[in-house]
Amino acid sequence: MRKHLSLFLAAILLLSLLSGCAGKPGAPGSETAAGTAAPATDSAAPATDSAAPETLSPIDPPEPGVIERQDVAPTGKLEGCSLYVKPVEKLPVDFIFGMDASQVPALEASGVKYYDLDGTEKDVFQILAENGVNMIRVRVWNDPFDAEGRGYGGGNCDINTALEIGKRATKYGMKLLVDFHYSDFWADPGKQMVPKAWAGMSLEDKEAALFRYTWESLAALYTAGVDVGMVQVGNETNGAMCGEKDWPSVVKLMAAGARAVRAVYPEAKVAVHFANPESGAYPGYARALADNGLDYDVFGSSYYPYWHGSLENLTNVLKNVRETYGKDVMVLETSYAWTTEDSDFSGNTISADSAVDKPYPYSLQGQVNNLRDVTQAVVDAGGIGVCYWEGTWIGVGTDSKPENQKLWEQFGSGWASSFAAEYDPEDAGKWYGGCAVDNQAFFDPQGRAMESLLAFNLIRYGNETELVAQAVEDIETVVTAGESFSLPETVEAIMSDNSRQSIPVTWSVDSGVLSEWLKSSGSHEINGEASGLPARLKLVVQGVNLLKNPSFEDGKDAPWTAENLGGCKELRMEQKAGDSKTGDWHYHFWSPDADKAEFTLEQSPEGLGSGSYDFSIWIMGGDCGDDCRVYAYAKLDGEIVATADMEITVWNEWHKGEITGIPYQEGQTLTLGIYVKAPAAGAWGKIDDASLSIR
Ligand code: CA
Repeated sequence: MRKHLSLFLAAILLLSLLSGCAGKPGAPGSETAAGTAAPATDSAAPATDSAAPETLSPIDPPEPGVIERQDVAPTGKLEGCSLYVKPVEKLPVDFIFGMDASQVPALEASGVKYYDLDGTEKDVFQILAENGVNMIRVRVWNDPFDAEGRGYGGGNCDINTALEIGKRATKYGMKLLVDFHYSDFWADPGKQMVPKAWAGMSLEDKEAALFRYTWESLAALYTAGVDVGMVQVGNETNGAMCGEKDWPSVVKLMAAGARAVRAVYPEAKVAVHFANPESGAYPGYARALADNGLDYDVFGSSYYPYWHGSLENLTNVLKNVRETYGKDVMVLETSYAWTTEDSDFSGNTISADSAVDKPYPYSLQGQVNNLRDVTQAVVDAGGIGVCYWEGTWIGVGTDSKPENQKLWEQFGSGWASSFAAEYDPEDAGKWYGGCAVDNQAFFDPQGRAMESLLAFNLIRYGNETELVAQAVEDIETVVTAGESFSLPETVEAIMSDNSRQSIPVTWSVDSGVLSEWLKSSGSHEINGEASGLPARLKLVVQGVNLLKNPSFEDGKDAPWTAENLGGCKELRMEQKAGDSKTGDWHYHFWSPDADKAEFTLEQSPEGLGSGSYDFSIWIMGGDCGDDCRVYAYAKLDGEIVATADMEITVWNEWHKGEITGIPYQEGQTLTLGIYVKAPAAGAWGKIDDASLSIR
């Protein structure tokens, strides 16, 4: 062990001298002397006896490599660019514009070629550098291969991939951001699986292994001459990492990684990375890092506008961490779709019918607007950079899914291969396939750079062209059958700066067809055209409400009847707009005592014709207990023929009970109502807006 240790330290010393950083924290062990309180910190450091000796065998003295830089001429394409971009205010000169390009080598192995905006085939890293990208991010998995050496996919990104990418990034003058997942495959808020080789290790052994792995990986980059600017210790580690799920353990592992970064690349920034800025959890994360004494520089966040809340919130949460803990902040991942088309027969995360927040149209302008606004939000927070996620990941192959599948399996060029099943059976094992983000790249399916790749330079310099409509907002109109309706003459256009303007629209619908639609309930889509853009109007025709006093606005019970089955203390009409779904009135119940709130509320409309009927009713309330039972019901001649389960949760959260297709013959008695049994003491609720219509 002693022999090993001295060799190890000699290696470090040499490294320090060669890198011109002698005297800086060159040796991994040296930092433990700086008074780090956590005793386990020492166990990962090679200079202490508590370290597991077999995990600290000597590392060959790293020779600092030299990579010859190639001059990069910035693109001259900004003039004449059609995209509107307002320059980001107060953008720092040294702001980091990053691009995660982890998938590139696997894509190239699968036949992908990249072309610049002039159509010239080039190294994609040169293209990125020409367009203002100054940092390349790469994910690193410990061992994304099965026992036969078959890759799990997602680029099979291990340290060798990082080496290749790092060399190319350095050649074109960009720094490398090394993103250690400390897993053998994807790590994110949903999974932080321990690498196979570290499974079952004690925390102390894992710390030592993680330290050594990080040191060796970075030493390999150093030896190759890669210009590493930042290193992430973990990826989207929302309270878990590397199989550990409590903050003290997670931070110990992060600290082991950070120590290795300080040792090999003392000038690089150590970053931590979280997701879900909208969750409200960031102050807690930052506090946990501080409480557990982590030495780091950058608190980074993912920001996908589909799921991650408002930009204002993003600014606030990052600013809070920066001001409270004195850390740099940045966005480590963002992206936005420029189309809803899929290009590789493997479905995309964002498609036309994704039910997600959509702050911009899915267009090149939308893609640029997202990056521009995220950058402004980060600058407003005093942040240091924004990194786009996998803007170079396009589909491989073109002909058919089976052909593409072969490439994904052979080269790891899809998000996961079937071989990942052994490690991640529940996700990759079931859903392995190609690219889920080919519609969020800056390159088209043929690998040609698109105008949106100019975004990084446009954000810096601006390009305030004349505003043009780039999409039209969909309209949904609800009318009642038999009422008059005329098609709107204008629609809201989404302009290139994401503002809104009313513009004239022409609808393509036959007036005879439209008047037929307006006679009975149904849902119809009407297409139109506005300023050359497609417009869409969803017309929902509601049947006439055949219930009397459906929203209780008559201010009296009739024709509703309530039956107080359990002796509910309050069961009556109530006039209170704030507690009504619509209007001023609703039906109210409350019981201070347990097991009293049980009742029905119903009415039997008269004069109905034979047909198929739809009934609905709404409720909200609270404190009803776990065994609360609520349902809407329909009775024919006193017998229940259909029910629809409902629930009561919290104030102002309305729940609908809906029964469709109730078959009714003239002469029968149809009764529609709601049943509530809320056994908890203090149960209360509000009922409103019942509806009955014929199909
Ligand atoms: Ca796809």
